[in-house]
Amino acid sequence: MAVLFLSTPARAEVFRQAFARALPDIAFHFGEAPDPQDIRWIVTWTAPEDLATRYPNLRLVFSIGAGVDQFDMSRIPAHVSIVRMLDPGIAAQMGEYATMATLAMHRDLPLYLAQQRKGEWRAGDNLPAAQRRVGVMGLGQLGSLVIERLKPFGFDLAGYSRSPRRIEGVECFTDLSAFLARSDILLCLLPLTGETQGILNADLFAQLPQGARLVHLGRGKQLVAQDLLDALESGRLASAMLDVTDPEPLPADDPLWHHPRVIVTPHIASQTSAIEGAAHVVAGVRADLSGQDIPGLIDRTRGY
Ligand code: NDP
Repeated sequence: MAVLFLSTPARAEVFRQAFARALPDIAFHFGEAPDPQDIRWIVTWTAPEDLATRYPNLRLVFSIGAGVDQFDMSRIPAHVSIVRMLDPGIAAQMGEYATMATLAMHRDLPLYLAQQRKGEWRAGDNLPAAQRRVGVMGLGQLGSLVIERLKPFGFDLAGYSRSPRRIEGVECFTDLSAFLARSDILLCLLPLTGETQGILNADLFAQLPQGARLVHLGRGKQLVAQDLLDALESGRLASAMLDVTDPEPLPADDPLWHHPRVIVTPHIASQTSAIEGAAHVVAGVRADLSGQDIPGLIDRTRGY
């Protein structure tokens, strides 16, 4: 029985050591396997083209990143399960970034950065946090942690998810329109699926309060960039902070880079730590071997 690792050499070394310590009887291969029949588990970012035919005994594919939207699911046979990366560091970093971005939107940072570039000293009015309605789309591992991180600031918090949720002190919605109507700052932490692709579009922006702000942390393909630019132009949206774009990297001449009320960061809200990622995969292989629930197993029909 063996694991095949298909990411960078530096990460491979960390994973190799973690497997040698925790599961010495499992062979660890980097790049290719001497006998593909031995491979039970693959750790990778994308699914190799020949995955279905080359590894007849494959059981699990572990994503090396937090999402699984990058996989071409048609390359992964239905009997093979898919596991996303769960790493406490990813959530902690997302908590930091989302807090920073929410405060930046709340305190009009894009406006003041634009004024600074022009040497313009002009103070606007500060709004108390209790009067700012913040809405988090996606109440999973990350969205729910972000809500907890935002609680101490006293924002009026709401969340939106597919299935009903209960979070103390937070209004939870499954009705998107009602949720949008009360979101002065909208944070997107949805996974990319057939349902969420293009969800941040003109129709959605039209349902937000006038002058709302967007923080996009999910995946670039969820945002219709031209609709965002139009909403900024019309004043429907006041500003946006984007950590994810489509494509990535964002081309140097893309208007989003140069818009005075948009802040773009290069998909750095959270980064997977090789050590924590290796611990997660080792735990997944152990659970698989002992027939227990595998942490991070996704529902292939839902797509997340
Ligand atoms: P989870 O799978 O734990 O949670 C997903 C949440 O989104 C759930 O609450 C789910 O609802 C909700 N959801 C999914 N589809 C819909 C839909 N169609 N309508 C309404 N709600 C929906 O994911 P995570 O919290 O771990 O991560 C979310 C995403 O964040 C990742 O998929 C990834 O794209 C992105 N990410 C970005 C990073 C960055 O650096 N910018 C880093 C890491 C992740 P329900 O509760 O009902 O299932």
